[in-house]
Amino acid sequence: MKIPLLDLYAQYLSIKDEVDAAIQRTIAQSAFIGGDELRMFETEFAAYCDVGSAVGVGNGTDAVYLALRALGIGPGDEVITVAHTFIATAEGISLTGARPVFVEINDDTMLMDPDAVEAAITSKTRAIVPVHLYGQPCDMDGIMEIANRHGLRVVEDAAQAHGARWRGRRVGSFGDLACFSFFPGKNLGAYGDAGAVVSQDEALAKRVRMLANHGRLDKYYHRMEGVNSRLDGLQAAILRIKLRNLDAWNAGRRRAARYYASALADADARLPAVDARAEPAWHLYVVRVADRDDVLKELNARGMGAGVHYPVPLHRQPAYQHLNIPEGALPITERTAASVLSVPMYPEMSSEQLAAVAQTLLETIDVRRPV
Ligand SMILES: *Cc1c(COP(=O)(O)O)cnc(C)c1O
Repeated sequence: MKIPLLDLYAQYLSIKDEVDAAIQRTIAQSAFIGGDELRMFETEFAAYCDVGSAVGVGNGTDAVYLALRALGIGPGDEVITVAHTFIATAEGISLTGARPVFVEINDDTMLMDPDAVEAAITSKTRAIVPVHLYGQPCDMDGIMEIANRHGLRVVEDAAQAHGARWRGRRVGSFGDLACFSFFPGKNLGAYGDAGAVVSQDEALAKRVRMLANHGRLDKYYHRMEGVNSRLDGLQAAILRIKLRNLDAWNAGRRRAARYYASALADADARLPAVDARAEPAWHLYVVRVADRDDVLKELNARGMGAGVHYPVPLHRQPAYQHLNIPEGALPITERTAASVLSVPMYPEMSSEQLAAVAQTLLETIDVRRPV
């Protein structure tokens, strides 16, 4: 049995008629940039995230950049984030001219460690960017407490966590602003690049809207230099349909995660730890294994679409060599990067597929590590 890491076509088939009609409708209206679909999507997505405002932007990377720019962050500033994330988190920081400061993760959750954040604060620190990686919400109690005590801003990177909750509240509703990606493979994915910034603060959201659209609110009156980073009408129309299914799809992911947790309970692998206050969105199901690269190769050879998120922590990437952070500086992060393995995870997975993944993983680990 061949099983992909995710199956976007299976999902399209389940909403094909609605999506096809929405595309035709949007083209018929020539509502390619702006328009009703975008406005309605922004309203619906804000409501979904329990926030006042949402602004559609071009992609999740721009969302991070625009949220920080809206806060006035720029050259000379430091922004604390993690190295165990996709590069977009740090790119969004660097694009403003600020410096990303990478801190250690918690060994159990693989998420930002609030104590490490506090230790990294300097007189230049302006903001914290926690990443709800894999759809697992960060410890927002600890992070908000530190931010408030030190007068720092918080921008949540929720690009992998649409619908996740912390203490019953949606992620994205804790920080000053939060960033979402609608890259096709995310829990809520467009049919191309797309993203959003959400906020409880209407003035900040308005600033993001202005920055994302050439620094203007009126057609040819530019209050500042911005960029061109808009969510287009076709993507908004598709995202509206998909948003209505998101909770059901996330429930499918939860089902898959529950299955893996029980089927792999005795495996020689470290399974994801979930904080008692967290309700993850299960963007990825990430286990930690010894000899990860060998296990990965063997799984792929047996038709399993496994992956690694992410093999090289940001502070060890060539792109960040100018920060001069030596190997060993973030030992938990580095150990995590060497052992993480993502197994197939998508809402449409059948019981047969789940069983096959678990069985193959168990066999592969046993082969690799004879005891
Ligand atoms: C996907 C992702 C982004 C960036 O999103 P794009 O839409 O691909 O630009 C940012 N942060 C994290 C953690 C992501 O996974």
